[in-house]
Amino acid sequence: MQAEYDSNNIFARILRGELPCFKIYEDADNIAFLDIMPQSDGHALVVPKEPAVDFFGLSEAGAAAAIRATQRVARGVREAFQPDGVVITQFNGAAAGQTVPHIHFHIVPRYADQTLRGHAREKQSMDVLRQHADRVIAALAKLPA
Ligand code: 5GP
Repeated sequence: MQAEYDSNNIFARILRGELPCFKIYEDADNIAFLDIMPQSDGHALVVPKEPAVDFFGLSEAGAAAAIRATQRVARGVREAFQPDGVVITQFNGAAAGQTVPHIHFHIVPRYADQTLRGHAREKQSMDVLRQHADRVIAALAKLPA
């Protein structure tokens, strides 16, 4: 069953420019910004512009565009933060851990000596997020098209 889309969810409001974000990437179909409560440094979210609650509600073209964007942003995050590994996740439904009802992909760098911070728990300082966003933007600018 398809969940009904709430056009006032927080990511819809960010997409409309009603709320701020530390944007690191945009193309015709997606934007990406840093998670405000990052589980690790460099935790980024890729958000399709299509108004879909979850992966199941996304069109095939939207899914293909989202995966392309996720790969590109993940490359930028990896280049900027040089983590030991990168986890890419996408949650569907509250039972799966989804807290914002607009489709998005998490890019979570993993550092061998660090445990992950809690999911959607602790806000990072705006100064740190700004610095981290700048690092990813600079790394993305150096990637081949
Ligand atoms: P979900 O639980 O739906 O898979 O992930 C939602 C993510 O959005 C969480 O990791 C949470 O920290 C993040 N988040 C929640 N509100 C905001 C916000 O206002 N701005 C940003 N940038 N991230 C948010």
